[in-house]
Amino acid sequence: MTVPALKLAKSFNNDVIRAVTGRQFESQRAEQILTWALDNFQSKLALSASFGGPEGMVLLDMMHKLDASSRVFMLDTGRMHPATYDLVDRVRDRYDKKVEVIFPNHKDVEAMVSEKGHNLFYDSEENRKQCCRLRKVEPLRRHLQGLDAYVSGLRRDQNENRRDTRKVEFDEAAGGIVKLNPLADWKHDDVWDYVEEHQVPVNRLHKQSHPSVGCEPCTRAVKAGEDSRAGRWWWESDDMRECGIHLGEEEGGSGI
Ligand code: SF4
Repeated sequence: MTVPALKLAKSFNNDVIRAVTGRQFESQRAEQILTWALDNFQSKLALSASFGGPEGMVLLDMMHKLDASSRVFMLDTGRMHPATYDLVDRVRDRYDKKVEVIFPNHKDVEAMVSEKGHNLFYDSEENRKQCCRLRKVEPLRRHLQGLDAYVSGLRRDQNENRRDTRKVEFDEAAGGIVKLNPLADWKHDDVWDYVEEHQVPVNRLHKQSHPSVGCEPCTRAVKAGEDSRAGRWWWESDDMRECGIHLGEEEGGSGI
């Protein structure tokens, strides 16, 4: 089977290509999708978890129960909140699980901070995007080169950018690997019901009005009535603000 419209750097077998392009996953439950992915990609599959939202922790719990050797990684920007590091430690203890920690290129960060200062992101949107690119997007891109598939906790109702999220797709901007969003059709309450039922560890800042915890200087508590990501880069007016990790190049992101 040839798929000329896709730029796939990896060579997947026809069953995988058919399954992803055929959209067979849209009616499947999260556990079914993860089971398929674990069977097909094994150690070349990993969960990308921020440890700053409950969705990643739900997926970590699900994947670990399906396969205790399943992989999880986090991007450590160097500006994370202490509560996030505490959660990583709790996960290691609870699941006896290694969490792969991915750092940015230190030379790039040194050059940026030396030139523009530690808190450059408050000065302009351009600076903020540069910081996100060096500390998040490029490390993620580098790490994904060693994988055939990765799992993210995106949900369609988190914001407008995520409204068309598919449950399984090829991520051409990431070299054509498979991206799985098993919780794409979950609602906020579905996530918290799972957390409660399975006693999943989550970031303690969620109890202090932080529904989404990113880097410490770029995250604040949200007020009543604000959407869940209003506390991220709150000084910017653009409702579509994202760090670039989940945006393709054509959408103004940084290619991941
Ligand atoms: S969220 Fe803030 S500190 Fe973190 S990488 Fe982006 S701009 Fe830099």
